[in-house]
Amino acid sequence: MAAAETDREVPSALCSEFLNFSAKDTAAKWLQAIDLPKEVYQHLARYVPKIYCLGPNLNPQSEDLLAQLLLQAPLEWYLCGEEPSLGLAKLEQSNQPSQLCGHVFKVGEPTYSCRECAADPTCVLCMQCFLGSVHKEHRYRMTTSGGGGFCDCGDTEAWKKGPYCQKHEPNISDSSQEDPLANLSADMIARTYNIFSIILKYAVDMLTWDKEDELPQGLEPPERGDTYYCMLFNDEVHTYEQVIYTLQKAVNCTQKEAVSFATTVDRDGRKSVRYGDFQFCEQAKSVIVRNTSRQTKPLRVQVMHSSVVAHQCFALKALNWLGQIIRYSDALRRILCQVGLQKGPEGENSSLVDTLMLCDSKMWKGARNIYHQLFMSSLLMDLKYKKQFAIQFAKNYERLQSDYVKDDHDREFSITDLSVQIFTVPSLARMLITEENLMTTIIRTFLDHLRHRDLQGRFQFERYTAQQAFKFRRVQSLIGDLKYVLISCPTEWTDKLREKFLEGLDAFLELLKCMQGMDPVVRQVGQHIEMEPEWEAAFTLQMKLTHIISMMQEWCASDERVLIEAYKKCLTALTHCHSGFTDGEQPITLSMCGHSVDTIRYCVSQEKVSIHLPVSRLLAGLHVLLSKTEVAYRFPEQLPLSELSPPMLIEHPLRCLVLCAQVHAGMWRRNGFSLVNQIYYYHNVKCRVEMFDKDLMMLQAGASMMDPNHFLMIVLSRFELFHIFSSADCRKRYNRENANKDVVQQNSTLIEEMLHLIIMVVGERFAPGIGQVENCDELKREIVHQLCIRPMAHSELVKALPENENKETGMERVIDSVALFKKPGVTGRGLYELRPECAKQFNLYFHHYSRADQSKAEEAQRKLKRQNGEDSALPPPVLPPFCQLFASLVNILQCDVLLGMLGAVLQWAVEPSGGHWSESMLQRVLHLIGMALLEEQQQLESNSEDNEVTFNFTLKISRPGEAPSNTPSILALLETLQNAPHLEVHKDMIRWILKMVVSIKTMRERTAAAPSPEGAGHCQEQTVRDKDKAERKRKAEMARLRREKIMAQMSEMQRHFINENKELFQQSLEELDASTSASQEHSPSSWDSALVCVGPRRWRAGGSERRQVVTCILCQEEQEIRPDGRAMVLAAFVQRSTVMSKNRRRPPHNPESYDPLFMHPDLSFGTHTGSCGHIMHSHCWQRYFEAVQAKEQRRQQRLRVHTSYDVENGEFLCPLCECLSNTVIPLLPLTKTSCSSEQPGLSLWLNTTSQQIKALHSAQRKAKPTNAAATSEILTVEEYPPPEGFRLDHMPLNPYSSSIKEMLTTFGTATYKVGLKVHPNEQDPRVPIMCWGSCAYTIQSIERLLVDEEKPLFGSLPCRQDDCLRSLARFGSACWSVSSLSTVQSHFVRLLSALVPDPQVENSPCIVDVDMFHLLVSLVLSYPALHCQDSSGLSVDAAQLHLLHLVTVAHVVQILLSSVPVELTMEQESGEVEREEEESVGLLYNTLKTHLGSSLREVSSGWHLWRCVKTGILPFLRGAALFFHHLNGVPAPPELQALGAGEWEALCAYLCLPSNLLQLYYNHKEVLEPLLQWWCSHPVVHQCLQTPKTLISYPRESNRLIELPEDYSALINQASSFTCPKSGGDKSRAPTLCLVCGTMLCSQSYCCQTELEGEDVGACTAHTFACGAGVGIFLRVRESQVLFLAGKTKGCFYAPPYLDDYGETDQGLRRGNPLHLCRERYRKIQKLWRQHSITEEIGHAQEANQTLVGIDWQHL
Ligand SMILES: [Zn+2]
Ligand SMILES: [Zn+2]
Ligand SMILES: [Zn+2]
Ligand SMILES: [Zn+2]
Ligand SMILES: [Zn+2]
Ligand SMILES: [Zn+2]
Ligand SMILES: [Zn+2]
Repeated sequence: MAAAETDREVPSALCSEFLNFSAKDTAAKWLQAIDLPKEVYQHLARYVPKIYCLGPNLNPQSEDLLAQLLLQAPLEWYLCGEEPSLGLAKLEQSNQPSQLCGHVFKVGEPTYSCRECAADPTCVLCMQCFLGSVHKEHRYRMTTSGGGGFCDCGDTEAWKKGPYCQKHEPNISDSSQEDPLANLSADMIARTYNIFSIILKYAVDMLTWDKEDELPQGLEPPERGDTYYCMLFNDEVHTYEQVIYTLQKAVNCTQKEAVSFATTVDRDGRKSVRYGDFQFCEQAKSVIVRNTSRQTKPLRVQVMHSSVVAHQCFALKALNWLGQIIRYSDALRRILCQVGLQKGPEGENSSLVDTLMLCDSKMWKGARNIYHQLFMSSLLMDLKYKKQFAIQFAKNYERLQSDYVKDDHDREFSITDLSVQIFTVPSLARMLITEENLMTTIIRTFLDHLRHRDLQGRFQFERYTAQQAFKFRRVQSLIGDLKYVLISCPTEWTDKLREKFLEGLDAFLELLKCMQGMDPVVRQVGQHIEMEPEWEAAFTLQMKLTHIISMMQEWCASDERVLIEAYKKCLTALTHCHSGFTDGEQPITLSMCGHSVDTIRYCVSQEKVSIHLPVSRLLAGLHVLLSKTEVAYRFPEQLPLSELSPPMLIEHPLRCLVLCAQVHAGMWRRNGFSLVNQIYYYHNVKCRVEMFDKDLMMLQAGASMMDPNHFLMIVLSRFELFHIFSSADCRKRYNRENANKDVVQQNSTLIEEMLHLIIMVVGERFAPGIGQVENCDELKREIVHQLCIRPMAHSELVKALPENENKETGMERVIDSVALFKKPGVTGRGLYELRPECAKQFNLYFHHYSRADQSKAEEAQRKLKRQNGEDSALPPPVLPPFCQLFASLVNILQCDVLLGMLGAVLQWAVEPSGGHWSESMLQRVLHLIGMALLEEQQQLESNSEDNEVTFNFTLKISRPGEAPSNTPSILALLETLQNAPHLEVHKDMIRWILKMVVSIKTMRERTAAAPSPEGAGHCQEQTVRDKDKAERKRKAEMARLRREKIMAQMSEMQRHFINENKELFQQSLEELDASTSASQEHSPSSWDSALVCVGPRRWRAGGSERRQVVTCILCQEEQEIRPDGRAMVLAAFVQRSTVMSKNRRRPPHNPESYDPLFMHPDLSFGTHTGSCGHIMHSHCWQRYFEAVQAKEQRRQQRLRVHTSYDVENGEFLCPLCECLSNTVIPLLPLTKTSCSSEQPGLSLWLNTTSQQIKALHSAQRKAKPTNAAATSEILTVEEYPPPEGFRLDHMPLNPYSSSIKEMLTTFGTATYKVGLKVHPNEQDPRVPIMCWGSCAYTIQSIERLLVDEEKPLFGSLPCRQDDCLRSLARFGSACWSVSSLSTVQSHFVRLLSALVPDPQVENSPCIVDVDMFHLLVSLVLSYPALHCQDSSGLSVDAAQLHLLHLVTVAHVVQILLSSVPVELTMEQESGEVEREEEESVGLLYNTLKTHLGSSLREVSSGWHLWRCVKTGILPFLRGAALFFHHLNGVPAPPELQALGAGEWEALCAYLCLPSNLLQLYYNHKEVLEPLLQWWCSHPVVHQCLQTPKTLISYPRESNRLIELPEDYSALINQASSFTCPKSGGDKSRAPTLCLVCGTMLCSQSYCCQTELEGEDVGACTAHTFACGAGVGIFLRVRESQVLFLAGKTKGCFYAPPYLDDYGETDQGLRRGNPLHLCRERYRKIQKLWRQHSITEEIGHAQEANQTLVGIDWQHL
């Protein structure tokens, strides 16, 4: 109560003082003041505590208003020297705005970056600028902002081209560099300066103020009360739930209040949770601290004096005010910058800006946000001061980073986050490097924060706990800053820049040295390792540094001098790392094939080895750059090439590669997963560029400087294979003595791996600098090899390619040259396929293939070759030549050691019985031979006269082996192998090799003989090829014949099978009969008399035709459907629906009191029944369901997991198709109807019926006489005797067996329960009504669906829907038999009273308020309850027809009443036949007019009216046709089984209606005229006609999902301006769009949870209950994801209808490609909705993906 009083009191108390206040006078006083700061402070000291923080409930509106009047206004007066609105307007006018847009992004706002023109990916445009820029035609990227950051439009450094949008295009006439202060008077400048310094100082003082009970000097309040706040601060440690729980305890608030406190704390960083005297607040504080200190450090709480809080509030306001004022003029902005950056009294780094920055981590979120924003709109917008600010920022850098690492707020709330705004500006970055030595500072700071080192000074990370990871992540932001600094490579170098860059490089090498050799591993033998060693931290570091290392190299490559110096430095660093290279490692000499080399004894499998070698790898990169930039050739004298020791260079990379090989060979199994993971990342696309790739390059570099024999011997030695190949008899089986199978297997794998490595060392020439290629060649090759595996989607390709620091793979430039794009269909995604001509570039041993990739690619390529009718050889591709520096590498292919190895493997293969060789080994050997031959061929081809071809592989392989003597030559071995039966797969490859050898030999002979034309060789090849072709053709023909024979055999077998299992097939034929055969077989007999589905003349099935036999899916038994037989049921799903609703604003009915008898024509809530069509015995189903229940109970006890279906609610999955179901419908036979000859006409029938009804009324009154009605007791049974044959006492026999009756009750109850959302109650009189309603609604929705899908009325429905409708209709007509007879009778009476006046029924509805189809269905289905007591020979058929006629006439009238007059643009010609209809409808309309007078509109055209009637009533007639078809089992006429013109006539004939419907009226005018008059006399008719908008117009159009914009960013933009409707202007975190009605919701957040049926639910779930009767379709805008919800527990995500240009969706908006609406996919979603399949879809999704079941859908 106290709170409320203060709230009301205070303003009034201060009122007089405030009213007398004059801002103008105050400002005038200030102008005279000698000590202005003191005056202003006095003013603030007096007023601020009176305006702000006066009680527990703050009132921001009135505070702001008062602050504006009392605090800001005098400031503005002083500043302008006149009326502020005038002064500011003048300022704005004379302002020349800068070209920078500077729009600060809101959270979730779309941002755009141009992939072609942006200097780096942090350069973004706001939507407005983007739409006005050239980039919208470029390849752009769209993301959503995380808040903060601003639009870079107008910043020439941010864009390679098109820096301005249309709006920010500079006016050329402007001299833009002019000083903005020039436009301001000196007076004004002085005043601005004064006031800005005071206010900014005040704000800084207050925000950095850390005393809780005192104020800075000069601000002490005149009077101070004992008023305090208990202030709760945000941290990132405690969860929402913890805070909410604690608050409820500590300050005694409700859950709701606690949620609101917690939300504010999270958003603003602090919130007062209690107001009162000191003691009171202190008490709350101690409770909070106590409650939250258990596991972690406690929540931060302070008890602060109200005046302190008040001044802090105003300080924030003041900063906002400054931000607003400087918007008027760039001059003011400049002054503010000047004030902010002016050195304070403490000298260096003591300006106000410095003070703020240095206190950043002590401030709360809200304060930080506001001053960061002010920085952005002032310092960063001013070109002159941005530079100064950058320098200050760099000077404080180390301190700020250290503060940030300790701070627990996210980076977006830290001042360090501004680095992106500063460092990414290339000119600033360059300046900071040269002047503030920024690069070195960043790296040093980084190193300082990573203190864990081992004895050698290398990094050693502790166990990577969550907290470690957290800290480590913070430190990593420094790497991010380094990346920003390096992101744009300089085009011009100054000496100073070189110096500072190299200094930075030194620091960087220090960092890399700490990484060289970190996390070493030793092979575990015997036992498995006990604990997986830590490895993630090291790899995280490597991954983060990958781009930096690449960028360093790029910088080096851009300047020769820098490159040379960097190379030297790097070499020194590496030498330093290897200072102990040979320490303790024994030197040995290896000899083989007549060569020998000195090396050391070292075994990877026994000693320490590390995967981290960044220094070696950097050197490898620089070495390649020497070649690429040609520095190696131009300045060899400046390079330390002679100091290089090739064996030292290759040693560690080689060890690392051997480690991988040994891991593959299974030698490191006991070292656990951490090693496997490391090896995985070593090759992974994220790391390989600066790991695996560089190791390979280092091997290439080393080998190119060595004798190839020596190189290979060292390789053999490190692979621990030397002994195998060096032994004299190595060609004999090397393993004779080695019986250990594991070792043999290991060695085989190692040999394979080693051969692969040799292939790579010689064959990988696609890096510019190694081979003579361009950058794009390398990329093309990557893509070709990815697509050789299989066609891929754009995103898959992107994932497989390394990205550069701009997150670009460069793929777009080259993709089209190697691939063809295939568009996606309605599902799936677009795919790129390799162009066929690129297949020849395929290299099976492509270095980036994993083993799995390799075998997939091999299979795919062989298959392709077979399809093209080619041989299956996959020879190596032709390679580009090496660059000069690496040219000697080709000699590896013809060196003695390699030839020795090749010969050995071939020899092993010749004698397969010895085993211990592998096909992979042979395949690699063949590949190497192929490479050598291609090399020789190329050299021969490109050979000019004077050069001798040094490469002579063919000669060498023709020579017999040397040791032991007389072994066969390699060529001879190959020829032997060609015919070996066990090498079928390799035959084609061997043939290819032999052909190559022949062709090369001829080439050599030719060149030796004369420079002759090259025809001969080709010619020979040609004939060989022809021969091959013929052979293949023959084989293909054989294969075809064989296939045909098999097919013939198979079909014979099939026929046999059918004969054997006749019954089985019989049954399926019978099922077919049920729906289709009827029309086929019986149409001839009934051809003359057209098919009629209703009335005494309707078509009737014979006894045998009625017989229906079905099979139970559970027990497989057959069962005939008979009324007295065992019940058969269909699995069914009943759901509430608003799919056809024409009024989504109608509130849901109160389930207890709602009377569903009459459906309103807006169809706002209906009950839909669907079925998968699977039939079971009722008892089989019951047993099944009980089993499911029991299982579910056990499961819940055991696992507490949920299922996709809710057993307690009666849900189960169809045992056959797993379709979600919640009840069963019994199958019922056709009711037998006898057709007596003579039936009464309409008037007679009506007469009889109303007599029967009167009799019923009398009987009822007699049964329970009411005292109230005593006076009106005129009607008695005596007076109204029942008509002849109507026996009230007759109790009809129930025709159904007990099991059918039970099922009738089951389905009825289910429909009632679901449809009304009530507890089951089989006695409720509304049960049958709900069943009839569901039947009508389902038919209506199917009728709509058929129209929307443009399908004919009959014959196009799937069988399951036919079965479902049939069961529904027949069920409806039988359900009276399990209800109380009198209840159903009274329903009929009330239903009929809507059309025929019955004085005993009150409140009968007006005909415009009734859906006629529901009425028809309910009347027909309830009539049997009346008929069963009649024995006069009246037929049900006649009643059905009369009811149909009656309702049809009423519907015609209803349509005429609601027909909207359309401007008749043209009256179409109508045929003679229609004339009659037009006249009669005109007459009827005139009759209506006589009853209704002028309230009915004037419509002169009969043509128009007839059009209205005809189109308006069509859905009704179609629905009626479906209904009677299924109810009476009458086959459909062929005209209605196809789309076509004759529909109207066919429908009318089928329904026994005249095609001129008006005849119905005129034929029975005597009965209908009075009815018509009565209908028109209903008061509601007049009301409705007054306001025609309330009328439903016919036909009701099908509902659609909302229109979506073509461009997805329009949606993002819409969502970004959407604010949470509950928490006053806050941005919503998960804005979600209802696709049914277009409402935007604040999903998945506490603020918008509401209570629904006693549970807290999120905004989406709450919305579905009103909008979709529990079912919802949403688009989660930030995630680009469709969300399906059903009820509170079911939901799933669904692919959005938005695709990028590559035919892919982007769920989560991660890729940022522009997205466009795919209409087909949207239509598909719409169809799911219209056919009520959303719940089913969710069920299937949840069954397929169990994780979906666990999500708390109700909180979305
Ligand atoms: Zn902009
Ligand atoms: Zn712009
Ligand atoms: Zn562009
Ligand atoms: Zn069964
Ligand atoms: Zn099923
Ligand atoms: Zn909605
Ligand atoms: Zn909200």
